[in-house]
Amino acid sequence: MTERLYHADSYLTGFEATLLDTDVAGQRLYLDRTAFYPTSGGQPFDRGALHPAGGGAPLSVVDVVDEGERIAHVLAEPQPGLAGGIQLSGSIDWARRFDHMQQHSGQHLLSAVFHEQLGCATLSVHFGVESSTIDLDVASLSPEQLETVEQRANAVVWENRELTLSSEDAQEVSGLRKASARSGALRIVSIAGLDRSACGGTHVRRTGEIGVIALRKLERVRKSVRVEFLCGGRAARRARAEFELLSRLSAQLSTSPAELPGVMETRLEELQRVDKRSRELAQRLAELEARELYARAAASGPAGSAVIHWQRTPGGALAELRALAQCYMVQPRAVFVAALEQPPSLLVAVAEDSGKDAAALLRSALAAAGGRGGGNARLAQGSAPSLAGLELALGTLRSHLSSASHDSSR
Ligand SMILES: [Zn+2]
Repeated sequence: MTERLYHADSYLTGFEATLLDTDVAGQRLYLDRTAFYPTSGGQPFDRGALHPAGGGAPLSVVDVVDEGERIAHVLAEPQPGLAGGIQLSGSIDWARRFDHMQQHSGQHLLSAVFHEQLGCATLSVHFGVESSTIDLDVASLSPEQLETVEQRANAVVWENRELTLSSEDAQEVSGLRKASARSGALRIVSIAGLDRSACGGTHVRRTGEIGVIALRKLERVRKSVRVEFLCGGRAARRARAEFELLSRLSAQLSTSPAELPGVMETRLEELQRVDKRSRELAQRLAELEARELYARAAASGPAGSAVIHWQRTPGGALAELRALAQCYMVQPRAVFVAALEQPPSLLVAVAEDSGKDAAALLRSALAAAGGRGGGNARLAQGSAPSLAGLELALGTLRSHLSSASHDSSR
C-alpha cells in the first residue's frame, strides 16, 4: 500500500520514502509513500527523480502508474541491484505538475461555468500535451455563448476564490455538479460559491493561480461539442507564439497584424487574376507553338500524308505536353508524338481525319516495351518501365507510322 502524499498536499515537491519492492527487472519501484501523481482522472503523471540515500546517481522517473493499492514508479533505466528497505528521497518536476494543476483546476472552473451559464453538463475531459478539451452535452454553441463563458470564467479567476478539499461520505454528500458512482469516502474539491466535484486530482489553492483561461477551437463530436482550452502558462505561451506567427506573416506582406485580413484578401484576388491570365497566355502560346510545329512537319513530309511531329523532352510533366498536343491535333492529318524521358512516358494525339487511332497506336507500342497506358482514339498516354523500354516503344511507333504513311501515300 502506497500512501498518497499528493492527496493532502498538492504543493509537496520533495519527500522521503522507503523502497518496499521492485519488479524483477528493477524498473518499477514501489514505495511506502509518494508525492508522485499517477495518471488518473485524466490528469497525466508526474515526472521527477528518486535519489538513493547516501549518494548515487538519481533515478529518473518517466511514468507513474496507479495499480490500485500500490503506485508504480517507472524508471528510465532498470536498476537490478536495488533492494527493498533502502531510503529514497523523491523530487517532483514542479513546472510540469503546476501546469497540470492549472489545467485541471481550470477545467473544474470551466465545467462549472458552462453549467451555471448555459446549463450544459461536462461529459468527458481530456488533458493533452499542448491543450485540453471538455466535451459538453449540448448540440451546438455560438461564438457569443463561448465569449460569455470565457468572460465569466476569467472573472472567477480574478476574484481569487478559494479551492478546498474535504472528505465526505458518498451516501451523504450533496450539491455535487456531477453525481459520483463511487461509494465510501469521496474526496471533494470545492471552488467557493461555484462548484463541488468528486476528484482525486491535484489542484491549486486559489483560482488566481489558474491564470488566464482561453477558450479556443469548437468541434462537433457526435452529439456533443468539444471545447479546447488553455490555462495559465499555456495560454501565455500560446499568445506569444501566435503573436510571433502573426508578426512574421504581416512582415512578409509588409503590413500590420490588424491589416492582415484585408491585405490577404486583396493579394488573393490579384493572384486569381494573374493565375487566370497565365492560363490564357499558356493556351495562346501552345496554339502558336503547335501551329509552328505543324508548319515545319508539313514542309518536311510528303504531301497528302500524315503530318507527324515527334518530340522528345528530358523531364517534366506530361500534362504540359497535353496542352500542346491538343492544339496540334486539331489541324488536318496531324499526328503528335511526345516522349518524356523522366519518368519514361509517351503521349500520342491524332487528328480525326488522320485515319489513325491514338489509343491503338499507344497500346501496341507500349505492349512491346512492357508499359501501360490508355486513352481514346484521339489522345492517349502511358508509361514505359524504363528508358530502354521507351526507346523500344518509340521504335515500334515509328515503324507503325512510317508503314501507315507509306500505305496512305499509295
Ligand atoms: Zn478533477
